[in-house]
Amino acid sequence: MKNNTKIVSAGRKKQYTQGVVNPVVQRASTVVFDTVEEMQTAIKERADRTLFYGRRGTNTHYALQDAITELENGAGCALYPSGAAAISQSLLSFLKSGDHLLMVDNAYEPTRDLCDKILAGLGITTTYYDPTIGAGIEALIQENTKVIFLESPGSITMEIQDVPALVEVAKKHNIITMLDNTYGNGWHFRPLDFGVDISIQAATKYIVGHSDVMMGVAVANETHWPTLREHSYLLGQCTSADDAYLALRGLRTMPVRLAQHEKAAIQVAQWLSEHELVDHVRHPAFETCPGHEFFNRDFDGSNGLFSFVMKEGNLKSINAFLDALHHFKMGFSWGGYESLVTANKTMAKLRSTTGWEHGPIIRLHIGLEDVEDLIADLEQALQVYKDNL
Ligand SMILES: *Cc1c(COP(=O)(O)O)cnc(C)c1O
Repeated sequence: MKNNTKIVSAGRKKQYTQGVVNPVVQRASTVVFDTVEEMQTAIKERADRTLFYGRRGTNTHYALQDAITELENGAGCALYPSGAAAISQSLLSFLKSGDHLLMVDNAYEPTRDLCDKILAGLGITTTYYDPTIGAGIEALIQENTKVIFLESPGSITMEIQDVPALVEVAKKHNIITMLDNTYGNGWHFRPLDFGVDISIQAATKYIVGHSDVMMGVAVANETHWPTLREHSYLLGQCTSADDAYLALRGLRTMPVRLAQHEKAAIQVAQWLSEHELVDHVRHPAFETCPGHEFFNRDFDGSNGLFSFVMKEGNLKSINAFLDALHHFKMGFSWGGYESLVTANKTMAKLRSTTGWEHGPIIRLHIGLEDVEDLIADLEQALQVYKDNL
């Protein structure tokens, strides 16, 4: 599945690079035509890497789109100003009033909010399903179910879904499947290879890789690409050429960064799994993570993101722990070169079908620092946690 050569060569057509290594940064609103014939050709070919108008993209965007399309084995890739925009846009491209959506219960929090606060107002109903449901999803399908949305592993609690089982049911009922693939990233997991129709990523995370650009991408298969492309265009979704350039630059080194993130995160997770205060780790590569067997079957590696569940704890111990950390900065997002931490006393507020019977959960992003420094940092901060129980 892995292919370093592809990552290096994808999207490097001479049309985009004009003879140097990287694509030109082509900033544009207006594209100018010298003849009527030239303009007519652009109108005809505007969906296929032909300069037409800035919102349709320029050579910089085409280079990134081609590369991500190759990475995810799709028919085409749309770019968005954030991962959240890629999610909302993918859903809005295919759902209409009266439709029903099956949304996984461990979805990224703003994805849930989108369903409850915006889609509901448009007359689109949502049922949240247990991420471990597998083929049992069939019982939740209604006559008007249009989309099944997956996220695997899911946010914070990290359950991994049985993607082939869900896709099989969806296909039987002619339902579109979309998967938030920010974790699997096209490098360790390619949803379209498993029959998913649209794979969505917050490129903000590992593709950009340096915490300095917001971007979303959605890759569709042959059947759904024309609709995704045109509806995204009509709803005005586009990104700057500078951001597209930075995302492509990040992509080129993504495999080597991921390998380091993966190695360090497994070491830290192993250490945490043996700590007296820790109940279990929610790292997809560990047996204690729900759906680990699907991770083993469908993914070919992990990255720097995982969570761990405490045996006990309260707001005071959590806050003291967070304040005691030096290398782990508190911050949302992940996928940059730096280590990050967030914590939740309970997941109950963010889950409507699965609930939460465990103690506090702490999520780490393991960056590119020395792993000894990170473990030492956690060790002293967990002592502070204990002192504040
Ligand atoms: C961060 C994230 C998003 C949103 O991406 P933004 O670029 O921050 O809008 C979506 N899904 C998942 C799983 C994420 O972690």
